[in-house]
Amino acid sequence: MSYDVIIAGAGFAGSTAARVLADAGKKVLILEKRNHIGGNAYDWMDENDVLRHEYGPHIFHTNSEKAIEFLSRFTDWYTYEHRVLGYIKGKLVPIPFNLTSIEKLFDEDKAEHLKQVLIASYGADHKIPILELRQNWDPEIRELADFIYENVFQYYTMKQWGLQVEEIDPAVTGRVPVLISYDDRYFQDSFQQMPSDGYTKLFERMLDHENIEVQLNVDIMDRMTVNPEEGTVYFDNEPFAGTVIYTGLLDHLLGYQLGDLPYRSLDFDVETKEGNFQPVATVNYPTPAETHPYTRITEYKKFMKNPPIMKTTIAVEYPMAYDRQGEKGNVPYYPIFNEASQKQYDAYADLVRKIPNIVPLGRLAEYKYFNMDAIVEHAIDVAEGLLGK
Ligand code: FAD
Ligand code: UDP
Repeated sequence: MSYDVIIAGAGFAGSTAARVLADAGKKVLILEKRNHIGGNAYDWMDENDVLRHEYGPHIFHTNSEKAIEFLSRFTDWYTYEHRVLGYIKGKLVPIPFNLTSIEKLFDEDKAEHLKQVLIASYGADHKIPILELRQNWDPEIRELADFIYENVFQYYTMKQWGLQVEEIDPAVTGRVPVLISYDDRYFQDSFQQMPSDGYTKLFERMLDHENIEVQLNVDIMDRMTVNPEEGTVYFDNEPFAGTVIYTGLLDHLLGYQLGDLPYRSLDFDVETKEGNFQPVATVNYPTPAETHPYTRITEYKKFMKNPPIMKTTIAVEYPMAYDRQGEKGNVPYYPIFNEASQKQYDAYADLVRKIPNIVPLGRLAEYKYFNMDAIVEHAIDVAEGLLGK
């Protein structure tokens, strides 16, 4: 079979693009280096009858009609609204930090006063990033902001990124704003639903198309060579003039010629427990590493519509440095955003642009913090762009 498009990676980016192109009659080959499809959203039923998210908790939430419409072709949904509690000063309080968190952590009079001051300053139902709250002119609000900064963001961020809050892009902590409301959901999007049979089943249906062939356990770089100077691509030792959608790391694509791009990795310590482990699916530990060396614990069965009763599976999440050759930490989970890494990424992207038929797509290849809905929407647009739509 000859292919119009070769795609590296069967995560949301690669699979969405594959399906849009296949629907339009293109012959698509997907090469996936892991032994399964689904990318980091891959899930599977474990020995406790718990649908385990192999690469960390994945909660679907969106305001994108386009993403909902596309994905709903491959799955039904059930409502799941994610709630997170943070272990702060020995108590479990809502995260994002909200008016209930204030009530739980301060005595009644002080809490009442702080709530009034916040509402007077910003209005009820306002959301505000912590770094912005710290800039407030009112010393009382700044004092509260410092408290939240220290007890919610400072240590968690140091554990998560190995960096101070100020050393990472403000958009990262801005994902978890302070809420001047009693809304205790982690996300405020209008659509908060999980795929009825899990993510992997959704991917199986998405990729089940006569124009799509999937080959697992294949790193595309074992079959493809690229030459930016000549602008050429060779696949299986033959020149390839079709499109290559590449959803892996750009440094890997270009033989690390400009050095390794910085990523952060995670190690999940997965354990079986009896019954129920914690009150909500995720409990965050924004405490110093000396007290809790992990950032969060997720109890996967709390995502399920029909969870098992007797047993439960938990994953304790330990952030760590990324080391592509390491025994641990070899999954590049998060691009580390700062000026230097952005510059290095841009230099790689400039080289890739010299090869006109290579299209970098996705969280790794574009070095961006895409959520699932965002990458689905973006991959549809990119694939439609390739089709001239
Ligand atoms: P990936 O899912 O990483 O897929 C890339 C695929 O390409 C992988 O399967 C990889 O093996 C393959 N690949 C790479 N290089 C090669 C190569 N050379 N040859 C062949 N194959 C290759 N988003 C949400 O919306 N909600 C959440 O709750 C959420 N939680 C998250 C939690 C964690 C811990 C992380 C890290 C991310 C989370 N995300 C969440 C984001 C979500 O994982 C991404 O949006 C999504 O995975 C992006 O899809 P992708 O296809 O770009 O990348
Ligand atoms: N964050 C934090 N404390 C928390 C939750 C989040 O400091 O209790 C910061 C941290 O820097 C984290 C970022 O906010 O990396 C984004 O959090 P999110 O939950 O969106 O991270 P993800 O689910 O993508 O790991």
